[in-house]
Amino acid sequence: NERKSEPLLSMIKDVCTLLQSQAKLHHIDLVLQCEEEFMVSCDRSQIKQVFINLIKNAVEVMENGGKITISTYTKEQFVFIDIIDEGPGVPKHLINKIKEPFFTTKKNGTGLGLMITHQILEKHNGKLEVHDHNPNGSIFRVLLPVEKV
Ligand code: ADP
Ligand code: MG
Repeated sequence: NERKSEPLLSMIKDVCTLLQSQAKLHHIDLVLQCEEEFMVSCDRSQIKQVFINLIKNAVEVMENGGKITISTYTKEQFVFIDIIDEGPGVPKHLINKIKEPFFTTKKNGTGLGLMITHQILEKHNGKLEVHDHNPNGSIFRVLLPVEKV
């Protein structure tokens, strides 16, 4: 686990490129709303794995296509990365279960993606939050400490 100062947008763009064809296949647009670049001290491949897991999940719940918005901003010492989907949302009674290993509602799911995501973010002194998105969908929000310039 190697930490370096990495540009966040470049990692997000790499992941979008990687998932672009899968998204297209499902009639989903990946929309980036990121203005500034932010530097984060991290293991590049692990943080990319976080975005892969979250954007894949978003693609997998949007059976009718639509738009996944990825938006970044800072507040105090954190950079926030919101991954906003237009899927069915996470049912209230499952919100505490989805980070548990092997919990899945998918026929061929492993139930490991969010657990791994959570672990990677904890190691980076960050966190994962899940919020409702009105009128439909969810926001998976990643917080990471932003490097001081
Ligand atoms: P898997 O994708 O293999 O099911 P995950 O750990 O990635 O495992 O996700 C666990 C569960 O959390 C999913 O099966 C699904 O029920 C729920 N979930 C994850 N992302 C979303 C999302 N964007 N919208 C609605 N439910 C979600
Ligand atoms: Mg998953």
